[in-house]
Amino acid sequence: MTVETPDTAEQRLASLSPSRASDFMTCPLLYRFRVIDKLPETPSPDAVRGTVVHSVLERLFDLPAAERTPAQAGELLQPAWTDLLAEAPELAEMFGDEGPDLAGWLQQCRSLLDRYFTLEDPSLLEPTEREVYVETLLESGLTLRGYIDRVDVAPTGEVRIVDYKTGRAPSEYFEAKALFQMKFYALVVWRTRGVLPRMLQLIYLGSGEMLRYIPEERDLIATERKVQALWAAIKRATETGEWRPHRSVLCGWCDHQAICPAWGGTPPPLPDIRAAAQPDRQADPRPGEAVDTGTQPGVDGPADPPTARTRLHDPGA
Ligand code: SF4
Repeated sequence: MTVETPDTAEQRLASLSPSRASDFMTCPLLYRFRVIDKLPETPSPDAVRGTVVHSVLERLFDLPAAERTPAQAGELLQPAWTDLLAEAPELAEMFGDEGPDLAGWLQQCRSLLDRYFTLEDPSLLEPTEREVYVETLLESGLTLRGYIDRVDVAPTGEVRIVDYKTGRAPSEYFEAKALFQMKFYALVVWRTRGVLPRMLQLIYLGSGEMLRYIPEERDLIATERKVQALWAAIKRATETGEWRPHRSVLCGWCDHQAICPAWGGTPPPLPDIRAAAQPDRQADPRPGEAVDTGTQPGVDGPADPPTARTRLHDPGA
């Protein structure tokens, strides 16, 4: 697809992915730690499992349709893990004395892949794109960007956007958050291709459920408004330096409790924002989450898309 690339420093600062948008909505301080401070986070076995499973599902569609079987998916698992380890050898440290058993962890990956086949028959599908980077520049100067797991285009031209999650389907309360990411992608596709996606489909391998949504123009217009409002809030925080912590149950998964005022800690001094906004291919992928993107007050990021293979996937979000 045609990508509109931000070509000025200002535009590079003004970019946002669904993951980083979600960070800010969850906790502005978490956003700051990830996007501005770019603090390292410890990869979790759950997140890395998501990355490996995504990789297998992507490779599965390289096979002839008749060979897209659970057994073949199982065969693809070890190579996907080996390739990821070659790029990030430190991931091996997750296993061992204090971590999970590698064989058991790989078996969990296999179970998720087996469950995939109970939800879809990949031999009947021919995705048009997989792990596709999308980006669009809004009139306001804000760039929206991210990776879509799969785009299916029907012979009639109807577009379906598909995202795999290795976690469980969310409760009704969190469904809107999951759909926000999909509407964000749909908005980018609509703006860049002029086609309103016919369906947004979330596949939850953790619980074996699918969430489908048929977007309307007004949904995506509302999403654009929401993103712009979010962006305005991020810019305000950038200008004032006020990145407020928002304590919630999600703090239990946050790597930064020790330096979080909500937990008695002290954040480091704010780094120079422009320095923080320099393209950094490793910054987007945040170990633990869907590694989707990331970066500055505005956020999110590097002008260049991060390497797809090093993206870690958020198992649940
Ligand atoms: S510990 Fe909680 S409040 Fe603090 S930065 Fe992390 S998510 Fe935000």
